[in-house]
Amino acid sequence: MKNKIENKVADTINKYRLFTKRDKILVAVSGGKDSTTALYILNKLGYNVEGITVDALIGNYTKQNLENLRSVCQKHNIKLHEISFRDEFGYSLCYLRSVINSKGHNLRSCAICGALRRYLLNKHSRKLKAKYLVTGHNLDDEAQNIMMNFLRNTLETSARLGLVAGLLKSKRFIPRVKPLYFCTEKEITQYSKLMKFPVKYGACPCRTGSFRNEVSIILDKLEKKQPKIKHTIIKNFLKQLPKLKKQFKSTDQLKNCRHCGEPSKDGTCQACRIVSLIKKND
Ligand code: SF4
Ligand SMILES: [Zn+2]
Repeated sequence: MKNKIENKVADTINKYRLFTKRDKILVAVSGGKDSTTALYILNKLGYNVEGITVDALIGNYTKQNLENLRSVCQKHNIKLHEISFRDEFGYSLCYLRSVINSKGHNLRSCAICGALRRYLLNKHSRKLKAKYLVTGHNLDDEAQNIMMNFLRNTLETSARLGLVAGLLKSKRFIPRVKPLYFCTEKEITQYSKLMKFPVKYGACPCRTGSFRNEVSIILDKLEKKQPKIKHTIIKNFLKQLPKLKKQFKSTDQLKNCRHCGEPSKDGTCQACRIVSLIKKND
């Protein structure tokens, strides 16, 4: 079991040429089982890795995650970079959300948290001169994303999926890669428990997104009746992905946000849009 998942990660990196041992890799770690597994395995395989974490200050949940991460990194001698919503934006996620909602904008926690995290991870990875940013996305996450985009008719979003995320390129954008792409949720949970990683297995208390939950339940049910159906979704998707990328690839390059300089599609990045909602009418 232990070697199986480690070999699978090593094979994925080699087969898809995700990165080499010379590249500086930052692993976006949350303290959960997936990103902790990614960080541990890449370090064990001899890659040049460091961890980077964004604390959204979700009470005890992120406090415990941070403590767990520090202990994993200390034990395995891995450098950990810590970034906090409070240092960057002045407030916790919960406070930001309540202010935004009080101003009449119905943004969910995950939408705010996801956009602000992506912004911070990219900005700090670039400052730290990382060549790639690794995320802990697994096969179940990707199968859910593919099905959600299919059912919502948002195929352009699917064109940004795959082992290397994104569609448009920019020198200021650090490519996000997913070496756990072919590892299932179940395999990672087993591995993480076997390795006795100090991680929390429950969901984040601020988690939103009932559609993802519904799709996940349906896929789990289908998988019981037809084992490996999630693998089949991924396999067929990867065959279609080059066509999707071609179809939706704009000739445009990513622009720099006019407010903060981070990459953005149309000149104002998502993080600056969110921050402007907080400042409005203050
Ligand atoms: S589940 Fe949502 S709110 Fe919680 S950490 Fe993840 S993105 Fe943030
Ligand atoms: Zn911006």
